[in-house]
Amino acid sequence: MTSASPAPSALAPRSVTGDRLRQLVLARTGDAGLAHDVRVVSQVLPFKVSSYVIDELIDWDLAPDDPIYRLTFPHRDMLDSEHYRLVEQALESGDRGAVRLAVTKVHDALNPHPGNQLSMNIPQDGDLATWGLQHKYRETLLVFPRQGQTCHSYCAYCFRWAQFVDRPDLKLAVSGPEAMTAYLDKHPEVTDVLLTGGDPLVMRTDLLADYLRPLLGREHVRTVRIGTKAVSFWPHRLLAGREADDLLALIEELGAAGKHVAMMLHLSHAAELRPDPARAALARLRSAGAVLRAQAPVVRHVNDDARVWAELWAAEVHLGVEPYYMFVERDTGAQRYFALPLARTVQIYREATRQVSGLARTARGPVMSATPGKVVVDGVVELDRGKAFVLHFLQARDPDLVGRPFFAAYDAQAQWWDELRPFGPNDHEFFPLRS
Ligand code: SF4
Repeated sequence: MTSASPAPSALAPRSVTGDRLRQLVLARTGDAGLAHDVRVVSQVLPFKVSSYVIDELIDWDLAPDDPIYRLTFPHRDMLDSEHYRLVEQALESGDRGAVRLAVTKVHDALNPHPGNQLSMNIPQDGDLATWGLQHKYRETLLVFPRQGQTCHSYCAYCFRWAQFVDRPDLKLAVSGPEAMTAYLDKHPEVTDVLLTGGDPLVMRTDLLADYLRPLLGREHVRTVRIGTKAVSFWPHRLLAGREADDLLALIEELGAAGKHVAMMLHLSHAAELRPDPARAALARLRSAGAVLRAQAPVVRHVNDDARVWAELWAAEVHLGVEPYYMFVERDTGAQRYFALPLARTVQIYREATRQVSGLARTARGPVMSATPGKVVVDGVVELDRGKAFVLHFLQARDPDLVGRPFFAAYDAQAQWWDELRPFGPNDHEFFPLRS
């Protein structure tokens, strides 16, 4: 933060969106072409960058190749050229209706809800208002509080991008905790509740408490998880004043009542853990009794380098954060720009693992969170009949599939689950449930 900046508030980061993003890129890089692309692409994919990211995380001397710039700012190649031209021409026409039509067309082509999330994970529970809950795995209920469906900044690769665009038909959200509590009362098998979004830490602490305190009286809920990137995008949420103090007190209260409170931190690059405010935020969370776990996708332009992951995992362990998942970029949004071949993700995972001590080898990966479950790519093997990927399910809609190793035909270009084929010449399906 520059010395001229006002004291940071926990809840209100100064964020840059819309045309101010274009102006910012022009002012910081002097590159009019880059700034024009920012304007076009940000019509389609949501972009927002906090003053903290701009002032503390991005090295503007390296932009646009700085990894945090790539993580947060739009780039022309995030859209295919046909879509880019469509939106650019609509903008040039000055007709807002034409822009809206073009943007809607591109949104619909970008697989806004990967993994059939709208058709397969929404609980079908009679008259309960469950739009905004997801129950994919038996033990875990995901809750999308309406007030938490934004973030302090947006990640350009976010697979939840559809939550942030002006399309109510694409959004998941519950308007209050009642749908969650009613669902939990009918589902005693749920042991874990995950508040997600967006970033629930954009919410005021009293609103967050409205969701979390009802869990105190529900014994079957043992674990409360909160997914957040606030440590990277706005650590002042955990440092500044009453809102931050109340949040930490709420975490302590849940812990004292016997709940395991897990902060599911989204950390993509070691640069996010270098500034003092991020380190102080982690220390505060730990002092409140939260267990800290970290996850992120492995993506081109940001962290497609084993040394970056090794440095990240080592820094996490040093700061009391357990490396949890290395995800594969999902089949949505700007996947064309960020995704890597699965074969490359395995290589990065293995090389990174080799560089760190045992305590930092806790991240599972590379993992695809796909329609049938969470699939880990364990590696590549040479068999009599040729090369194959070895995979297993960490989580599955069908619990019987969990942990069973299986093969897929090796494909050097494959980037996602639905591009994989069974290995045997006579095999047409991996499992009967595959979809
Ligand atoms: S913090 Fe999470 S939800 Fe928010 S934009 Fe990044 S990936 Fe998406």
